Amino acid sequence: MRLFDGDDSSVGTSEGLIEFPLTAHSALIGSIELRSARPLDAGELESMRAFAALASLTIHADALDHETATASRSLRESNAFKDDVLAMLGHDFRGPLTVILGYCELLAESAPEIKAEIETIFTQTQRLVRLSEDAVVLAQTQAGGFSLAREPTDLGEFVREAVRAFDPSERRITVRSGDAPVWAPIDRVRFRHVLDNVVLNALKYSDGAVEVEVRSTATEAAVAVTDRGIGIPEGDLPSVFTRFGRAGNARRKGIAGSGVGLYVANKIVHVHGGRIEVVSREGEGSTFTIVIPLVEDAHPT
Ligand code: ADP
Repeated sequence: MRLFDGDDSSVGTSEGLIEFPLTAHSALIGSIELRSARPLDAGELESMRAFAALASLTIHADALDHETATASRSLRESNAFKDDVLAMLGHDFRGPLTVILGYCELLAESAPEIKAEIETIFTQTQRLVRLSEDAVVLAQTQAGGFSLAREPTDLGEFVREAVRAFDPSERRITVRSGDAPVWAPIDRVRFRHVLDNVVLNALKYSDGAVEVEVRSTATEAAVAVTDRGIGIPEGDLPSVFTRFGRAGNARRKGIAGSGVGLYVANKIVHVHGGRIEVVSREGEGSTFTIVIPLVEDAHPT
């Protein structure tokens, strides 16, 4: 506050031009000028000071409102951009990658002299498909989840069909299931995503055979995937289901990975009311078991 016709000692009895500063973000942005024909007492000056403070606050709040609106507009724009990129990853990537996978299968049969090279292209293309699908599901889980379109499905048949698509030439995978079908209510697209992640990991983190077993109890169905590969150090077990979580030995060996697959797979199984269990020993191998209820009751989202 500045008094034009008196010094600070005359505040209580001044008359003439009185200026009250207006501030926003601690910066002076203007002032309120008061012309008084009579001396103002201390109470009136205090009221004017309070009025100026209130005006400052209002201006400040207005500026904040403006900043918030700008921030939320740019957040909306970047969310829309993210959705576009993810839609592109999910749909536009998938088509050409599927064509490449198809030609790999044809070439592997017709050009045996370059079989090894073609298999590398096939495996790396499968990784690209998986990465793009992981990115889409990851974004959906971050955005508050997703719903399931469940259908009663014979898991034994479902797993055998999925496995036929994994490694058409290598035949590293064997599937075991009982004679009786194991019917479970699954979202086939989502569950296939989980199975792909777990089985492709078993192929990636081991060189040898991979066994897939389908079994059931009175209340639950289980798909257990076992490999005799690098295994997971005990201390790293809890972190492999976290976002971007990778075990130290996988990193040290330079095996490429994003650490997103199991996080996403675990989310999908959880929405089915189930869980993924892991038993692993470093240097000996791992068993990942996908467990889901046989009836569609538990449905946490
Ligand atoms: P990534 O793309 O890194 O394979 P995942 O989320 O699928 O991501 O797996 C997380 C981590 O769990 C892997 O980086 C690896 O350290 C470990 N892991 C997963 N499956 C296996 C397995 N079958 N054998 C050994 N380690 C595994």
